[in-house]
Amino acid sequence: MHDVGQRMPWHAQPASAVAAGWEVDASVGLARVEATRRLARYGHNRIREATRRSVLRMIVDQVADMMIIVLVAAAVIAGAVGEPADAIAIVAIVVLNAVLGFLQEYRADRAMRALQALAAPTARVRRDGTMVTIPAAEVVPGDVIVLEAGMIVPADVRLTSAWHLRLDESALTGESHPVEKGVAPPVDAEAAIGDRRTMGHKGTVVAFGRGEGICVATGMATELGRVAALLGEADELRTPLQQRLQRFATQLGLVVLALCAAIFAIGLLRGEPPLLMFLTALSLAVAAMPEALPAVVTVSLALGARRMAGRHALVRRLPAVETLGSVTYICADKTGTLTQNRMAVRVWREAPAATTAAVPTPPRALLEAMALNSDVATSREGGHHGDPTEVALLEFAQRHGVDSAALRQRHRRLGELPFSSERGRMTTVHDDGRGGAMVLMKGAPERVAACCSRVLAGGEAAPLRLADVIAAADEMARDGLRVMAYARRDDAVRSTHALSEADERDFTCLGLVGIADPLRPEASAAVQECRAAGIHVVMITGDHRATAEAIARELGIAGGAAAASLTGAALARLDDDTLVEKAGDVRVYARVAPEQKIRIVRALQARGEFVAMTGDGVNDAPALRQAEIGIAMGRVGTDVAREAADMVLTDDNFASIVAAVREGRRIYDNIRKFIRYILTGNSAEIWLLFLAPLVMLPLPLLPIHILWVNLVTDGLPGVALALEGAERDVMRRPPRAPDESVFAHGLWQHALWVGFLMGGVALGAQAWGVRTGGHWQSMTFTVLALSQLGHALAVRSERESFLSLGLAGNPVLAITVLATVTLQLATLYVPALTRVFRTAPLDAGELALCLVLSTMVFVAVEIEKAFLRRGFRYGRRGR
Ligand code: ADP
Ligand code: MG
Repeated sequence: MHDVGQRMPWHAQPASAVAAGWEVDASVGLARVEATRRLARYGHNRIREATRRSVLRMIVDQVADMMIIVLVAAAVIAGAVGEPADAIAIVAIVVLNAVLGFLQEYRADRAMRALQALAAPTARVRRDGTMVTIPAAEVVPGDVIVLEAGMIVPADVRLTSAWHLRLDESALTGESHPVEKGVAPPVDAEAAIGDRRTMGHKGTVVAFGRGEGICVATGMATELGRVAALLGEADELRTPLQQRLQRFATQLGLVVLALCAAIFAIGLLRGEPPLLMFLTALSLAVAAMPEALPAVVTVSLALGARRMAGRHALVRRLPAVETLGSVTYICADKTGTLTQNRMAVRVWREAPAATTAAVPTPPRALLEAMALNSDVATSREGGHHGDPTEVALLEFAQRHGVDSAALRQRHRRLGELPFSSERGRMTTVHDDGRGGAMVLMKGAPERVAACCSRVLAGGEAAPLRLADVIAAADEMARDGLRVMAYARRDDAVRSTHALSEADERDFTCLGLVGIADPLRPEASAAVQECRAAGIHVVMITGDHRATAEAIARELGIAGGAAAASLTGAALARLDDDTLVEKAGDVRVYARVAPEQKIRIVRALQARGEFVAMTGDGVNDAPALRQAEIGIAMGRVGTDVAREAADMVLTDDNFASIVAAVREGRRIYDNIRKFIRYILTGNSAEIWLLFLAPLVMLPLPLLPIHILWVNLVTDGLPGVALALEGAERDVMRRPPRAPDESVFAHGLWQHALWVGFLMGGVALGAQAWGVRTGGHWQSMTFTVLALSQLGHALAVRSERESFLSLGLAGNPVLAITVLATVTLQLATLYVPALTRVFRTAPLDAGELALCLVLSTMVFVAVEIEKAFLRRGFRYGRRGR
């Protein structure tokens, strides 16, 4: 069929020929089995397999670490001239360390990939006669694909129908103005991509209208695929924190190297054996080098993102995980985010306020308009699919006895001007059954009334008084109802030209309908939580100002009476400076067009705010990109919005944003805990080896001891700290300044002094051991390892005491600490291990002393926290 020789390009062929060429009936679509067959034949509709780091590559990266290679080499040399067992032990620990590092990266990679799979795009196709949503990757040539405003075209399609379809092809052609598409216009076979009016190309965006088309190419066979094949691969994206830590790790690495060189030199001067001294300095360098930090941060962020996914927030860009904690403003859509988007018609009235209550049933014309002026699709089982507002209206009409299917049959739709938030109304043209046309309109009352000259009251047409209609609508809106007006015009002659906005005049207003949309039950509490966390909540809606205000009041967004609201029209009159000034007070933006959202974000940013903004439509994309955290709706959101967003809410729920902020703050806290823990441990090791010769003590540790302490501390408890639950005050403190260093609030001071203390107590153990002729090396080794564990228990919170935290909150850490203590004791008391570690069993007195000394670090950090709780600050910029 399709690939028999070269033929006319698809865009130059009539739609029917394309359908025949791909053996598909455009009104039925492919059969499921056929689609499966074609998927096997043409492959998945993907541009390129994401460049994944292979498992081998990750192993190589770990091992390639120069220093480790040098260390292994040196150990082997040392083994050759001295004890082979020493060399084997060192190599074993180094390998174990590399395996742990690899597992970390592997986990991070897996978590990232799982996230990407969750965020995969979808497509609407017709299969076996019904519309289904499938992963875009499973689209095959011949599929009948539906295009609606906000979608990203999933594959190359030859259009078979188009209603005011305009595509933004800038991704492909660079042309930023949307291009009008059609089914029939003759297209030259040689036409450039931008001129192929009958085609929709993969990766372009439906800016307006609706359409359908037959897929003619997927994956790398599409025009986009051809371009992509020419382009290089994208770089791996690192979060700001990862980048900063990478730089920091390099700088600190240099300092560590210098210190280790100094320790090596001093050792030589004191007459230690050069090879042993070299191995010691090198082990110290390997141990104290903070090269693991960026990897651990990746794991924390990726795992955090996975947890967020479980709570309905899909992170598309990893930096969002760490920056969520800095959000100071959440600008949320009203409908569907703060409310349930479960619309139900509550009241209706004739337009003029005077004639309301008396009429018991809505007039027939209004009900018919509800059934006809609607894009709701009714499935064979009778279920409704579409915009909840329209579903509510259709169901209302049906409850009042309208047979919508029969009606739609009788009054076929001949044309339409679709709804958009900018227009605030939608117009459809129907066959009136008498050779003329019935033109129906619904939308925001003031937008519809502007097109009306008459009003239907008590079955009679009367001149329309705009003020009356507006007043009636306002009254309904003040109850928090979403108000919709209907209008109708009967044309005796059907016009042949396409409908335009200029034709939207001279209507007769049929009446007003009030639709209730219940609040999401969690929303109020989430708004409350934001207030405690220093985050402002702002409502943005296309709805009526009075409706929005009523709902804002109910949610507690418009806290005091002073909270202002601003309409889109007023917003348009403000210049940027005035808007910046006002934006600090406004809590409700009503009747705003999506394009205005970006001005709101910019104004808030100009005030120094860190903004999260939600959006779902095509025109929300710029604002989502501009906001620090762009949030798209997963259910009702368009592809374009999702693509532009940092995060997608799978339940469209405002409370999920707040939960994600909470999670973001927790993750950042835990990353800080981890860094604090690791740096302190490293600094302790350096202090110890640096100070010992200065106080005339022998080399305190052997290389294997250093590597062991590093493995045991860097490895296990550090990772367990990342599992720490949220601190109690996590949502009761102000947002973190976005430019704040991870080392702020005394982190580096802590690492220095606690490290000094840790090194000091180990040194104390050594001095005592040397003086009493005891097992001083084993004691030093033990005190260093155990005090690190004590530290792990203390740094679980930056402020809260260990006693108030309890261990139940982090069982993994508790188990890790217990296991590590056991392992440490094993190195002292299991004969096989004492040979490897060159340790000796400590007697009871020595062990008791070690325990007492090790506890000192824990106690000291608890005292530090007590000071912090009482208002002590490191430096000037404190929390
Ligand atoms: P939001 O989603 O913020 O509530 P929208 O931009 O969707 O706002 O809607 C704005 C207004 O447009 C609504 O108050 C309603 O009057 C009108 N409207 C909404 N949906 C439709 C529709 N499908 N057809 C016609 N008018 C609509
Ligand atoms: Mg809406």
